[in-house]
Amino acid sequence: MNGVGGGRFAPSPTGPLHLGSLLAAVASFLDARRERVAWHVRLDDLDAPRNLAGADRAILQALERHGLHWDGPVVRQSERLPRYHEALTLLARQERLFYCRCSRRQLRDAAVYPGTCRHRVEPRADSAVRLRVDDARIAFTDLVQGQRQWSLAEAGGDFVVRRRDGLVAYQLATAVDDGDGAITRVIRGRDLLETTPRQVLLMELLGLPVPAYGHVPLLVDRSGRKLSKQNHAAPLDLDRPADNLRRVLPALGLDDPPADADSGELLSWAADRFDLARVPRRDRVS
Ligand code: GLU
Repeated sequence: MNGVGGGRFAPSPTGPLHLGSLLAAVASFLDARRERVAWHVRLDDLDAPRNLAGADRAILQALERHGLHWDGPVVRQSERLPRYHEALTLLARQERLFYCRCSRRQLRDAAVYPGTCRHRVEPRADSAVRLRVDDARIAFTDLVQGQRQWSLAEAGGDFVVRRRDGLVAYQLATAVDDGDGAITRVIRGRDLLETTPRQVLLMELLGLPVPAYGHVPLLVDRSGRKLSKQNHAAPLDLDRPADNLRRVLPALGLDDPPADADSGELLSWAADRFDLARVPRRDRVS
C-alpha cells in the first residue's frame, strides 16, 4: 500500500457472511490492492434491532479465513453517533431539513415523496427528518456501470436522514463515514447504485470529499433474486475458503482461477488480473 486514500467493505452485522457478501468484500479488497491504497472494514451496526449477536465477530473471522486482511481499526457506526448528529446540525443550518410525520401507509403508493410535510421545519422528536433535495442533479461515471445521472426530485425526492424512531439513516451515516474516513473508492454491490446520488448530495452539502464508485454485479439465484440474508443464503463454510473464492471470482470477470491454489494464492492470482473495466455488468447465477 502506498497510495493516498482507501477502499472499504461495510457489512451490516445482521448475520454471517454468505457468497453474495463475500463477492462485495473481494471486489473492494482487490480494487484497493490494485490501487495500492488501504482497505478498511466498517460495521454498519446502527440498526440495533436487526443486529445479530456475535455476527460482527463471525464476519471478521470469515474475512480473516479468506485472507481478506484489513488495514487499521474496524470502524463501528454505533460509536460515531455524535458525529452524525453534528452532520444533522450542519444540514439544519442550511435549512435543508424538515420533520415528516407521514406514515408508511400514506407513502405506500408514492414513487416520489409528495412533499406533504415540507412546511414542518420546527424540530420535533416524534418525526422522521427528511432532506429537501430541491433541484439537485448528480452525475458520475461508475467504474463498472458507466455514466449515470439522476435528478433527485425524480429519483425518490426528499429522503429520510433520521428515522422516526430516532435512528440515523443509512444514507447519512454512510456519507459521513465515507467522507470522514478518507475513502476514495467505494466498490460494492449493484443493488446500492441507486442509493449513491443521495450519498453524494449529502457529502457535497457537508463539504466532504466524494469517492469514486464502482457497483459490481450480484450473485443471484435461478429466479434472479439476490443472494442475501433475507433470502436465507447459506453462511460461508469457513473450512473451504479457496472453494468459496473460486465461486465468486468469475462474477468479477476472473474466469478459470487455478484449481489447486489455496486462498492466499487465489487472491494473489486475482489481484494481478483484476480490472474493474472488465467486470461484467450483469448479475451472475450462483
Ligand atoms: N451495510 C450495507 C449492506 O450490508 C452496505 C453499505 C455500503 O456498502 O454502502 O448492505
